[in-house]
Amino acid sequence: MLITILQTSFGSVMHNFTPIRKRCHICGLGIPLSLGHNLWCHYCQSYIEDDTPRCPSCALPILNEQCFSEQCFSEQYFSKQHLSKPPLNEPPVCGECLKLPPPWQRMFCLGDYQFPLSLFIQKIKHQRQFWLLPPLIEQLHQRIPDPAPMLISVPMIWHQELWRGFNLSHLMAKQMHALWPSSHLGEHIFHKRMNTPTQKSLNRQARLNNVGKAFTLQNAPTAKHVAIIDDVVTTGATVKHLSQLLLEVGVEKIDIYCLCRTPN
Ligand SMILES: [Zn+2]
Ligand SMILES: [Zn+2]
Repeated sequence: MLITILQTSFGSVMHNFTPIRKRCHICGLGIPLSLGHNLWCHYCQSYIEDDTPRCPSCALPILNEQCFSEQCFSEQYFSKQHLSKPPLNEPPVCGECLKLPPPWQRMFCLGDYQFPLSLFIQKIKHQRQFWLLPPLIEQLHQRIPDPAPMLISVPMIWHQELWRGFNLSHLMAKQMHALWPSSHLGEHIFHKRMNTPTQKSLNRQARLNNVGKAFTLQNAPTAKHVAIIDDVVTTGATVKHLSQLLLEVGVEKIDIYCLCRTPN
């Protein structure tokens, strides 16, 4: 009798939850077919599948007219440097990266920091809706052809991590590690000792100085090819400083994996 009552109650509770879980988080309509998760529908999949041509180096969008001029620039650049040009079907490296190459080699992101990705990140960070993260990591994983053998997260200050209860960058690294079992998690590589004020209002040198004081290298990674994992890359000052610290201890190739990229 008791079991029947419990089963009926549990069934009615699950029945109440089921329609909510099967609603698309983007458009709110029902999800007709399973995508392996219940977060967005087939129609909204295009919001997640960003097909914007992006610079492989900084992951910023390349505009059509810019693409043409930078292709010319890159032809001159590659011939001057006696380097072979990348295949034509790959987006060209943008002018900014050609003029001043970043200390990392490749950056991968899901898209710009805008709806719906911005909403997902806010829900994970501020409402602890962690179930939104794995499908996003799965999408990111599909874009990275040959992942780095070591994944390194960007640390938070210890009391801020304690207050929040988690570090999103670390959660991302752990979920990526689960998708690439041959990779290693780089633990305690960096240490964050102080906060960085809002970077957007500062000029380039001030941003780098700020970040330089905030992060230190605690342990040298054992791999020569590593990836720095961050949720959102905005000015790039943090990943730039962290990459420079890695290069100083003999790391040869650095990737940046992030959920979103914010144009400067
Ligand atoms: Zn939808
Ligand atoms: Zn670029």
